[in-house]
Amino acid sequence: MSKIRLEIVTAERAIFSDDVDIVVAPGIEGEMAILPHHAPLMTVLQPGELRARKGGEEYSLVVSGGFLEVRPDRVIVLADAAERAEEIDIARAEEAKRRAEQQLAERYTPEVDAARAEASLRRALIRLKVAGRRRRRRPGA
Ligand code: ATP
Repeated sequence: MSKIRLEIVTAERAIFSDDVDIVVAPGIEGEMAILPHHAPLMTVLQPGELRARKGGEEYSLVVSGGFLEVRPDRVIVLADAAERAEEIDIARAEEAKRRAEQQLAERYTPEVDAARAEASLRRALIRLKVAGRRRRRRPGA
């Protein structure tokens, strides 16, 4: 079966590099599925879950936005931040969620940047969702 190379990098590190069967990414206009031989394109990502499959292996990552480029032989993701599901620190995401919710509750005070708090809340909720799903699928993992 033909494969497509998936490379996910941030400014800090390379997170994923492998040949996969399919990539499902959180495009700015919704989820997009990329199979081998997909037409070249470039798009913006929104914060969300990025999934890839290779045979029976499923990979799940959180990307907090960035760019995705489809080239003839590869998909390149330049993410603002990205973590594999198993790397997500749940306590940290819960704390980020609590902080953002508190800021939103005080959104009319001049120090609070509501758009920033909303973006932070969205990232925390996605991290919790992806980490929680993994935990349910692999109890004890
Ligand atoms: P926090 O307020 O907890 O820093 P954040 O949403 O502001 O969260 P980002 O700016 O998206 O964090 O990411 C900063 C760095 O921290 C990135 O390298 C990102 O991968 C990592 N990161 C953020 N939250 C988590 C988490 N819950 N578990 C693991 N890594 C995380």
